[in-house]
Amino acid sequence: MSVEPLFAHRLNGADSVQAPPRTALRVVEPPRGANLVDAEQAATAFLVALGVDLDTESLAATPARMARAYAEMFSPRPFDLTTFPNDAGYDELIIARAIPVQSVCEHHLLPFVGVAHVGYLPGERILGLSKLARVVELFARRPQVQERLTQQIADWLQDHVAPRGLGVVVEAEHLCMTVRGVRASGASTVTSALHGQLRADAASRAEFFTLIAAHKQPEVRGA
Ligand SMILES: [Zn+2]
Repeated sequence: MSVEPLFAHRLNGADSVQAPPRTALRVVEPPRGANLVDAEQAATAFLVALGVDLDTESLAATPARMARAYAEMFSPRPFDLTTFPNDAGYDELIIARAIPVQSVCEHHLLPFVGVAHVGYLPGERILGLSKLARVVELFARRPQVQERLTQQIADWLQDHVAPRGLGVVVEAEHLCMTVRGVRASGASTVTSALHGQLRADAASRAEFFTLIAAHKQPEVRGA
């Protein structure tokens, strides 16, 4: 499977003359043609091969549920990426903390769940804050590894928002580590990607890590 995401982009015009200048970018994954019938058949064969008895009322529809569950986990919701001119010249960190991450480890196809913290030093444009969570979902809803997920979120925001600095930290617990293998229950994996001023400047980087560590509750700081 290709690592690089494919997007269909559609530029929207301004809503009206009075609307503030903005740029909206429709971000949608190309249809992958999930074939739920084939997936259900394959799930049946898979479970039977593992010795699971599907001839009970409770399990009869499990292969179909399994197929739908994985299709959902591999399908990010489309969204409009809206950016606004940074007219106020805001030049401090904007941080969205504890954005939920729900992804699937591509090595075992078991979920990994946790949070992402995304912060940036705005350049000429700022981003609708709820969109940060959508960008996280865009890259989480696919077979994934946490390191690549972190880099893809950062690279995508760098390309589309062009901030002066950017930081992405993902903390997640991998079920493939907790329910099998080493069975390291409660262990979390932390990955980070830093761009621009947050990478180059120690003080900016320290402020970013201090702020994302300050609280564990979902919160948004900044404009
Ligand atoms: Zn795994």
